Amino acid sequence: MPNVNLARYNGKEEYPDLEKHNNHMAHCLTEDIYKRMRSKETPSGFNIDDCIQTGVDNPGHPFIMTVGCVAGDEESYETFAELFDQVIEARHNGYKKTDKHKTDLNPENLKGGDKLDEKYVLSSRVRTGRSIRGYCLPPHCTRAERRKVEEISCEALAKLDGELKGKYYSLAKMTDQEQEKLIADHFLFDKPVSPLLLSSKMARDWPDARGIWHNDKKNFLVWINEEDHLRVISMQKGGNMREVFSRWCEGLGEFEKHIKSAGYEYMWNEHLGYILTCPSNLGTGVRAGVHLKIPLLSQHPKFEMLLKKLRLQKRGTGGVDTAAEGGTFDISNADRLGFSEVELVQMVIDGVEFMISCEKKLESGQSIDSDVDKQKQK
Ligand code: ADP
Ligand code: MG
Repeated sequence: MPNVNLARYNGKEEYPDLEKHNNHMAHCLTEDIYKRMRSKETPSGFNIDDCIQTGVDNPGHPFIMTVGCVAGDEESYETFAELFDQVIEARHNGYKKTDKHKTDLNPENLKGGDKLDEKYVLSSRVRTGRSIRGYCLPPHCTRAERRKVEEISCEALAKLDGELKGKYYSLAKMTDQEQEKLIADHFLFDKPVSPLLLSSKMARDWPDARGIWHNDKKNFLVWINEEDHLRVISMQKGGNMREVFSRWCEGLGEFEKHIKSAGYEYMWNEHLGYILTCPSNLGTGVRAGVHLKIPLLSQHPKFEMLLKKLRLQKRGTGGVDTAAEGGTFDISNADRLGFSEVELVQMVIDGVEFMISCEKKLESGQSIDSDVDKQKQK
């Protein structure tokens, strides 16, 4: 559909006010780039204003440096490469256009990680996202496309067996109590209320075609049609990250096998790895994390610096938009692209072990300053 405003006003007149913004998109989107990209559209009709709306409406975020733009389909990353390439480079530590994505889904390559101290590590989790090729992503998909993604995924998931055998629970069909219990137990995503998600338009038609599939033990879970078509999660209480990662690799592989046998495939390319809605999740899409009880370390003046050195990120235990309570944080890898899945999980295991050693020292009244200073930048 031709956009009449494209002709009526020029790029200078339409360029958003990004003066006070602190997100990657705002730092990269010059007026010149905006002007050049205004005439472009992906084959499904996603344009530059659709890409950047979330970053225009949300100048910053209290806890994390946001990206400020989303993809509406697989082609968005090509069509708007002039913006996305820069955002990806800034968000993923200088990852260049010519760089190739690495993958390693063999849990045998992980060192240790099977007994993180459970006095500090309350739960362990690994998640990634996947998108089904040929269907628009949540900020841009139609209702029918979204329902089709749900149908394809549920059919593949229904074929999982053994420890992975499970059931699908549609959000539209579950009671409020069931939903609240799943959210409180950290299994389910909440209805998006964050302006960041709302302005990307991924929450349209909520809760239509959204839901959660999980195995009987509730330690392998798949979210359908939240921020991505699919989020694949393995989690359990305590500190056995190795077991969590092993199950995750197995479940992910089995699920993909059934997706493929039904004639579908995931969005993927050699450069960007798995294609997802938010550029921050490209590549492995892996966020491996633990709920870590560190009341002393988290108050320490060098805590932020330590997180940076270890390439880790902190969130509140209720998820990305929540603050930490009682000194317990969600500590996870900050990177998704440029490192393999095994490398990222290893960073979390090693970093969390180091943080626990710091917390113990602080408990016994010792200083951690020199330990933190000596810690190498990962
Ligand atoms: P994601 O990166 O998977 O989208 P969010 O920050 O949006 O993560 O959080 C999603 C949900 O997952 C929240 O309910 C959060 O409490 C839960 N969660 C995240 N990490 C862990 C963990 N290590 N243990 C238990 N629950 C977790
Ligand atoms: Mg989330």
